Amino acid sequence: MNIILLGPPGAGKGTQARRLVDERGMIQLSTGDMLRAARKSGTEMGKVVAEVMDRGDLVTDEIVIGLIEERLTGDQGAGFIFDGFPRTLAQADALGELLERLGQKLGCVIEMQVDDDALVARIVARSTCAQCGESYNDISKPIPADGKCAVCGGTEFIRRADDNEESLKQRLMEYYKKTSPLIGYYYCKGTLRRVDGLADIDTVAAAIGEVLDRDCG
Ligand code: AMP
Repeated sequence: MNIILLGPPGAGKGTQARRLVDERGMIQLSTGDMLRAARKSGTEMGKVVAEVMDRGDLVTDEIVIGLIEERLTGDQGAGFIFDGFPRTLAQADALGELLERLGQKLGCVIEMQVDDDALVARIVARSTCAQCGESYNDISKPIPADGKCAVCGGTEFIRRADDNEESLKQRLMEYYKKTSPLIGYYYCKGTLRRVDGLADIDTVAAAIGEVLDRDCG
């Protein structure tokens, strides 16, 4: 079953996607992670997108659709979780066409609903373990007092370059201008489901699990 996790930056899409990978053997396709990997490896495309990402703007549809297309023909696991993609109507149309061409379906689109003030507070406080990607938050889930990641024991933690108040505002603006129309788009297609993204991580995971088991495609 293929699903989309839809929601503004900081809604918890990545955290929930990783749980679905661990618990259900699904495959996470995060265009944000793919773009960060491209910029880290210094490819031409990586250089082009670095500045755009740091500003909080969206990378071109052509680039992200290309990245997704490359991955769709690989291992499909128990289905794909599209995390941070699609972010525009053009990307949504392209995804529909790609899936159709591959004879695959989109089960459902899960909108993670959150409050804007909570998002800003969440994002400026978040960090991840450099080794295993476990997420932490200075307020709700601080790094353990011994300075070691609770999952892998790693001692290096990173904050994203675009997790500052200025680029966050721009990312939110991009979300409302270009991505939020997808809520209506998928509602009309009959695939939209909603969960409260402000609840604690386990409660959100349970709500998503229930949608997947009972009401998704
Ligand atoms: P994320 O990790 O999903 O928050 O994405 C980080 C940044 O990568 C975004 O602010 C955009 O600059 C870029 N990006 C990620 N996914 C997309 C996408 N589907 N379309 C355009 N830009 C994207």
